[in-house]
Amino acid sequence: MSMASEDSTTVSIKLLIDQESNKVIIAEAGSDIVDILRSLLKFPLGNIARLIGKHQSVQRAGCLNNLYDSVENLSPTIFRTDACKSMLLNPRSIHKDKYSKKLKLNIDVSEPTKYYRCSNTRCVEKLFSHYKTSRCHCGNMLNIPYNGGTYESEGTDESEGESMFFITDDLRIMQALPGNLMNILLNLGIKNVCQIEEKVVDISSNEMSNLFSHSLFSKTTLTNVFLRNQSTMFVQQSTLVAPNVKERTEKDSKTRVKIMLRKSDRKIFNGEASEDFVDLLFSFLTIPLEFALELIGGNDLTAGSISNLFKDLDTIFSITKQNSYVNGILPPFYSCPIELPSICSQHPTYGYLNQLDPKSPILNETNSSGYIKKKSLFVITDDLVVKSLSSVSCFSLLKETGTPLCDVEQEVISIGEVEALALLRACLCSSSALSALLNLYVKQPKQEPQ
Ligand SMILES: [Zn+2]
Repeated sequence: MSMASEDSTTVSIKLLIDQESNKVIIAEAGSDIVDILRSLLKFPLGNIARLIGKHQSVQRAGCLNNLYDSVENLSPTIFRTDACKSMLLNPRSIHKDKYSKKLKLNIDVSEPTKYYRCSNTRCVEKLFSHYKTSRCHCGNMLNIPYNGGTYESEGTDESEGESMFFITDDLRIMQALPGNLMNILLNLGIKNVCQIEEKVVDISSNEMSNLFSHSLFSKTTLTNVFLRNQSTMFVQQSTLVAPNVKERTEKDSKTRVKIMLRKSDRKIFNGEASEDFVDLLFSFLTIPLEFALELIGGNDLTAGSISNLFKDLDTIFSITKQNSYVNGILPPFYSCPIELPSICSQHPTYGYLNQLDPKSPILNETNSSGYIKKKSLFVITDDLVVKSLSSVSCFSLLKETGTPLCDVEQEVISIGEVEALALLRACLCSSSALSALLNLYVKQPKQEPQ
């Protein structure tokens, strides 16, 4: 895929560095940086994966990039329509393009929204699509580009004056007030300001992507990015604790994954699932980052500092955030996974031309559900590389385990909301998502074999 060419624009921030410990105490940043961070939080996870994938030096965060690459590598015939693949590889946001366009740093990796109408000039169906692979109800292709977005209101300007902010090493954000600075220094036990060095650094989209990756794993994000110059990082097998908020899933949940593992040490070989499980995984790519963080809850993301960023921006800008997801989380016709009831798509708005469901290959069918064709089977690795079962050999899968068959066992896990949230969390901040799923049951009584 062709990505946007490397942008050399930078923005500056000032770092205050403790020379004794060689750590960043705070960064002093203008509202331009804060606008960028806020905009990043609105990105669908698929665009986060694109941003991270664009910068090859960065170690990929969690399993997100594996999931994204899996969509890219899967044969188009797996998907219900050609548009399904595009919807996942270039997920649209309900925030349209307005957030990213005014930013000083070009971090927007999404492709501009396009509009196509029917190629038959006498067509009476009055349909449009964002994908020129869609077929009109009259049978012709919707492939004539037109300027469909002009009726969208521009929205208000996001930045609020020239305020300055402090960003701590673990990404707490606050107004740049002398009293706040003093509190931070006192909390860190720094009594002498002479040991503090000031340093101005330039941030390009590369550093921003790096900063974001580190924020998922590190409590010392700024230090890692700007002082340790760590472009690669060690992703430990994070042990995620089971959420204790909700009841376990009922046994009759339709979505399941069968996990093959070694009895002796519970090492996972792979998972096997049908299209509903893979549809759930792929739908993660369409969820806006800030909504994903809200869903999985900040306290469970103890490994990194992204939840600090999210919470503080939410507090500082709560007035503007209100109402942003009232009418739905996803744009119209995006898949609403039944396992995550709070993720729903907006209703299409009706105008001169009405939007066709890009996921439906059948004429006149509306509000269709998933991205993947029914009765498809997939094999999935612990770090969420998804392959079509038809493209791999079962025998070589068994041989690859290198384990006597008597030491291999299979566990079937039904996926409800708790499990779906565990997967979503693992997708962002762990490289072993299926293990996270199994770990949900570690402290539970052993499951009945199914
Ligand atoms: Zn037509």
